[in-house]
Amino acid sequence: MPSGRTHDRITLWCLPAVAALAFGQTQSSNLTLLVSGSYLFGGLMFGPDLDIYSCQYQRWGWFRSIWLPYQKSLNHRSFLSHGPLIGTALRVLYLASWILLLGICGAAIAEKVGNVRWNWEEATANYGRSIWEHRTEMFAVYVGLELGAMSHYLSDWSGSAYKRFKKQGWSGLHSRSKIKRPRRKPTSRPPAKSRK
Ligand SMILES: [Zn+2]
Repeated sequence: MPSGRTHDRITLWCLPAVAALAFGQTQSSNLTLLVSGSYLFGGLMFGPDLDIYSCQYQRWGWFRSIWLPYQKSLNHRSFLSHGPLIGTALRVLYLASWILLLGICGAAIAEKVGNVRWNWEEATANYGRSIWEHRTEMFAVYVGLELGAMSHYLSDWSGSAYKRFKKQGWSGLHSRSKIKRPRRKPTSRPPAKSRK
């Protein structure tokens, strides 16, 4: 599996191709900018390796602790973090839930402290409407995020395939079952006698 730095390099090298492809398909500079920007964000900060203590995780700075529950509930390289489409969709939902939660808390505090009257129904309707009105842009962002994540899955996959090929030759590429996976460390401590 490539290191974080290699993943970053692959993301940056592929950026011109992603931008050219997006412009070729959409003929729109706005959408190209959205796809390319979210591709970079997806590759550098919002990728599958948020499921461990990775560069992507560390780049969230002060906000990185929001990813702790995500890391606790998923195994590294599980289908839910490293699976195509599902991985990005789940992270988008996860981040959206945090933004919603923080937004609701902020609005509730503003209502209490600042004596602001907040029309929750109207706010929800406004959000729904603007999401619907910007569905094309939302889709462009999702495509960019998925492409960023995809550069990660593909390099993870080709890195492991290359290692198998080096160890076992062509047959290693077909049989995944032969790879020895590191066993999880036993959670219980060894008996007192064996410790000194
Ligand atoms: Zn990975």
